[in-house]
Amino acid sequence: MSIQNRLAALRQALEPAGVDAVWVSQPENRRYMSGFSGSAGSLFITPNDALLATDSRYTEQASRQASDYRVVHMAGSSSDWFKEMLASMGTAGRIGFEESHVTVATHKRLTQLCGEAGKELIPLDDMIETIRAVKDDAERGALLSAIRITDEAFVEVAEGLRPGVSEKDVAWRIEMAMRNRGAEAIAFELIVASGPNGAMAHHRPSEDPIVVGAPIVIDIGARVDGYHADLSRTICIGEPDDRFRRIYDIVLTAQETAIATIEAGMTGDQADALARDIIGKAGHGEDFGHSLGHGVGLAVHEYPRVGKGAPDVLSNGMIFTVEPGIYLTDWGGVRIEDVVELRDGRCSVLSNAPKLRFQGGG
Ligand code: ZN
Repeated sequence: MSIQNRLAALRQALEPAGVDAVWVSQPENRRYMSGFSGSAGSLFITPNDALLATDSRYTEQASRQASDYRVVHMAGSSSDWFKEMLASMGTAGRIGFEESHVTVATHKRLTQLCGEAGKELIPLDDMIETIRAVKDDAERGALLSAIRITDEAFVEVAEGLRPGVSEKDVAWRIEMAMRNRGAEAIAFELIVASGPNGAMAHHRPSEDPIVVGAPIVIDIGARVDGYHADLSRTICIGEPDDRFRRIYDIVLTAQETAIATIEAGMTGDQADALARDIIGKAGHGEDFGHSLGHGVGLAVHEYPRVGKGAPDVLSNGMIFTVEPGIYLTDWGGVRIEDVVELRDGRCSVLSNAPKLRFQGGG
């Protein structure tokens, strides 16, 4: 049912985009539009037909997963089957393709084939990505499972955390806790950054030990049915010092203010400014180098973009992260991240992992 709705949404977008059909090859778009999760294949979608071309490794799987599509076995050279696809697309003359996914070499070759068939390739920017930004019930369900597993794994490992354990070991414990709860994979390379390592927003877990009294940034996510959770918490073993409390409170206030005030109709830029202003006024504008957040779904980073200059208009049904941070060289970092959903115009928080709270903070 949901694939039918997605096909309907895509077909409605054809005419405004100036195309008669689309060729889809980007993996997440392919999965979203068809349900097919294999690693190779192309979709050809016209107003009244939907074809899925894949190779012999996947034809069986494709027939099971993509029942709304006619599955075509790709045989022979890629030029041969592409010609076949063009022929089966009938009168559709203007064929949209994902310009940010197709290589120059492929484009060159297929432009020639299209020319020979009397058709034209038209670059499309983000047609399917825009549809993907608003989640349907099936997607929401998968995201909720991934988020719940991530929250529980965080609680289990954070509670048992002792100084001296390496960052790598903590990351591995979290990965096991997520897999034990049914995650199919980790959503991305987990981040565990102790003390000064936390100054690098995307630090890879090392042999460095967890130290007492320093900020520890933990940024983790589980993947369920292709959908990605994303959670950051900054914790401390032992007594945090005044500097930690001060920086932490700024980030927490920025995050909670943004979550409480983001509204449907705002742009990603306006949402970002809600948190950025607070961090800037506290004198740390230069230390918050990344975007406030990003959509999550079949990709860890997808629409809507929620950052400085992002024109994306936030609307009900979108699910995205809110994750301000402050990073100080030689000291470390603080990042606090939740996944939120826009419902009835406001943010409702989907993440449920506990946060550190100091008296007077947040
Ligand atoms: Zn994130």
